[in-house]
Amino acid sequence: MTTDPLKVTLLGCGVVGTEVATRLLNRRTAIGSRIGAQLELSAVVVRDLAAERPGLPRELLTTDAESAIAGADIVVELMGGMEPAKTLILKALSAGASVVTANKALLAAHYAELMAAADDAGVRLEHEAAVAGAIPIIRPVGDSLAGDEITKVMGIVNGTTNYILDQMEKEGWDFSHALSTAQELGFAEADPTADIEGHDAAAKAAVLASLAFDTPVSIDQVPVEGISSITPDMIATAAAQGFTIKLLAICERIVAADGTQGVSARVYPAVIPADHALAQVGGAFNAVFVEAEAAGQLMFYGQGAGGAPTASAVLGDIVSVARRKVLGGRGMYEHGEGRILPVLDIGEITTHYQITLDVADRPGVLSRITEVFAAHDVSIELVQQTRLTEPGTPEDLHAAKLVIATHSARESALAATVDALRGLDAVNGVLSVLRIEGL
Ligand code: NAP
Repeated sequence: MTTDPLKVTLLGCGVVGTEVATRLLNRRTAIGSRIGAQLELSAVVVRDLAAERPGLPRELLTTDAESAIAGADIVVELMGGMEPAKTLILKALSAGASVVTANKALLAAHYAELMAAADDAGVRLEHEAAVAGAIPIIRPVGDSLAGDEITKVMGIVNGTTNYILDQMEKEGWDFSHALSTAQELGFAEADPTADIEGHDAAAKAAVLASLAFDTPVSIDQVPVEGISSITPDMIATAAAQGFTIKLLAICERIVAADGTQGVSARVYPAVIPADHALAQVGGAFNAVFVEAEAAGQLMFYGQGAGGAPTASAVLGDIVSVARRKVLGGRGMYEHGEGRILPVLDIGEITTHYQITLDVADRPGVLSRITEVFAAHDVSIELVQQTRLTEPGTPEDLHAAKLVIATHSARESALAATVDALRGLDAVNGVLSVLRIEGL
């Protein structure tokens, strides 16, 4: 060993923290040899000192976070939530410790402030585990592709929703049955709101966009739609056209209608071609698809949550910051010194759409509908019609389901088209509007 041991303080010892602590203790020599210095787990901060924590020496446990941070070389925040996590991270940074965190919610709300604090202190704030668990995605986006121009990051970053949609498609279940099964199997929490309404994915989209485009994007700038309104019928309609439905987090450089260059980060369920790489991602797995100008298309796939997989990413960050401490270097780049691009409204994105309508099945209806699309400059690629009413229904009561796929169109134009369609006599209802991604 070339230097004194580096002191590591762990804030939190729950699902992830326990795995990190155990590995730091049990793999001390192997990890130390990769750094060039030993890591010494010097304190583990918890709420409940009396709780059983097998394998963890009791003398490491404390409820005094401030003292545990003082003198630490590396602070690992695995408490979760906003406070006291934010205050403790800022204290650790200003005291000269490098910080590793898995806290996507905190980063999505305060990314710019936290990174600036790390830059000001000349230390690192690493967060590989905050997006997609074990999958190395933060380092590839922030470091490996730093010389390239990332144009789009599109991923399945929430395992709970992917499991639910996967089961709905494979088993024909409705949403509530798939959700309750996910809860029974431990893939969904008792309060699944953050997952199924897309907020967890939105936090990850904010972090990914901030890093990929060197522009701070906070969670309140990420429009989000969850999966609770997805029906077996929508999945069957998508499948009939060779598509599958996935909840996607999308971060993209875009150009607004007035020529403004900016970024978009958003989360919604989208239909993607069944042969797209992301369509093959089943169960609770995660995958992130990255497009960069020189590298082309890259895909990262693996376990997006769980104690051990998440600990793997945390330990990678610990080794990375420890190596820099040993070498005396601080970091590779400063945050926020590149181009700060505006975060553009979702109305400015362009993509393809699949609109499903319940319409009167009588002559002239289709032409009235296509006129509405043309009037809003939205070009139709495909129309598929199926009869909804049973034989024997009076002629003037016949209804049909129309599935319309568009060419690429601006979201604002599509929204205006759908509003106008709702006003047509011949349209009994707009059954669904889904974006088509990955074409
Ligand atoms: P967890 O099981 O709830 O553990 C939280 C730990 O923090 C517990 O040890 C708790 O102490 C401690 N703690 C919480 N508030 C505290 C306070 N005010 N003072 C002192 N200690 C406090 O959480 P987790 O699942 O390990 O998640 C940790 C972080 O990793 C979160 O930011 C989460 O979003 C992120 N993450 C988790 C996963 C995953 O699969 N679990 C995946 C990716 C990222 P006690 O033990 O005494 O209660």
